[in-house]
Amino acid sequence: MATKPTFSQEISNLLYASHGKPLKTCIQCGTCSGSCPVVDFMDQTPRRLIGMINADLKEDVLDCNTYWFCASCYQCTVRCPAQIDIADVMYAVKRYSIWHKTYRDDLVGPTFSETFVKTIVRSGRSYEPLLAPTYMFSMGIKEVLQEAHMATQMMLKGRMPVLPTKIKRLDNFKNMIRRIIPMGGAK
Ligand code: SF4
Ligand code: SF4
Repeated sequence: MATKPTFSQEISNLLYASHGKPLKTCIQCGTCSGSCPVVDFMDQTPRRLIGMINADLKEDVLDCNTYWFCASCYQCTVRCPAQIDIADVMYAVKRYSIWHKTYRDDLVGPTFSETFVKTIVRSGRSYEPLLAPTYMFSMGIKEVLQEAHMATQMMLKGRMPVLPTKIKRLDNFKNMIRRIIPMGGAK
């Protein structure tokens, strides 16, 4: 009978297309944490997150904000002496969290990511006015007014479309995307 994969195996399986080395080769040196520009905002450092995944601490991993705060700068990936693609690990845990709906309600990242992907899939383009509500409610009134002012100025100067636009040959694009990522609820 087939045995159920462990959490670390599930995350490793999501990294099948990555060029990085296996997570188990992590030597816990901390170079990733020392290179990370947003580590101060993370519940767990990248080094600890890798260690927690390897230890199959599934609930603790999924409950922290680390992978949602990752800015995808790839500093950790290019500096890791074990050649682990830590940035890809962050993406893998994000995907796992969204598919299993295990993310925390107080985080902006999951809704933002889902809205972004659905917008891209539907039109082939990002459209900021659709994305903005996913994070604006976490801001103060002053910041919301600043964002609204900037958006208006950008629209007036033609730097942002008033209505969403679509790329040409959208069906071809959708077919290509379908081969890369599971579409979830996006149509
Ligand atoms: S830099 Fe690489 S080897 Fe060092 S702790 Fe981070 S993941 Fe592990
Ligand atoms: S890719 Fe993410 S985890 Fe790695 S250094 Fe950049 S922000 Fe930190």
